[in-house]
Amino acid sequence: MSDNRPVAIVTGASRGIGFAVAEKLAKAGYDLAICATREETVNAAADKLLAHGGQVSAHVVNVTDADAVKTFIQAVVKQFSRLDVLVNNAGITKDGLAMRMKADDWKAVIDTNLSSVFYASQAALKPMMKARVGRIINISSVVASMGNPGQLNYCASKGGIDAMTRSLAKEVGSRNITVNAIAPGFIATDMTADLGKDAHASLTSQIPLGRLGNPEDIAAAVLFLASDSGAYITGQVLHINGGMYM
Ligand code: NAP
Repeated sequence: MSDNRPVAIVTGASRGIGFAVAEKLAKAGYDLAICATREETVNAAADKLLAHGGQVSAHVVNVTDADAVKTFIQAVVKQFSRLDVLVNNAGITKDGLAMRMKADDWKAVIDTNLSSVFYASQAALKPMMKARVGRIINISSVVASMGNPGQLNYCASKGGIDAMTRSLAKEVGSRNITVNAIAPGFIATDMTADLGKDAHASLTSQIPLGRLGNPEDIAAAVLFLASDSGAYITGQVLHINGGMYM
């Protein structure tokens, strides 16, 4: 049972952007429920989050499994008796040129990045609608707007998130639930760690601010959208990319 602290769920919070988001919310006074696919890493993340003083519950959930996502969210609502914020962050890449992309790689990325957002949002809407308040924040990507060769599946999944964000925002606005997406540019995490030196240099040359973003750059925007200051923002895709796409 939460001690009247707001409660946030962050998917894919064992590392990278998801962990930074969870940490930012924990520091701001939220109780947290986080998930990822590996017990060891999700528990290690939860241990670090506990240092900020709130409650943290860690779950092993594969977000491609609709039933598992529903069970996870129901368990969190039962534990904390409320749900204020859902951050749909879990995501993967399986890059390849369209001509050679395997159907399994297409499906894995769509299931993980896009279908999961529907499963989690649907489950979260029930308690949010009852409470007549809630915030859903989806982590999209700049490439949904720009396109990127070799990332057909990933771009399609993130474009789907942007469209779903607008549609759901229209459906649930009357219940005081906001739905927004954040579209990061290139952020220094495991996902971008494999960029070679040349690719890194070429990329930063296209970024007016001259650097990759940090996970904290994204976390700050999530906290803003979750806060009272973000109360009148819904159906938007907020681009955070150092100016690489305007
Ligand atoms: P990351 O460092 O690779 O972390 C991905 C997180 O998602 C991990 O916690 C991972 O945990 C979890 N995850 C992956 N598949 C999952 C599944 N099936 N079920 C549950 N959890 C799963 O990635 P990141 O860079 O932080 O990216 C986070 C989000 O930001 C993603 O949606 C990504 O598309 C988006 N994004 C990233 C960038 C960037 O430049 N980094 C740019 C734009 C958008 P386990 O592997 O332990 O399960």
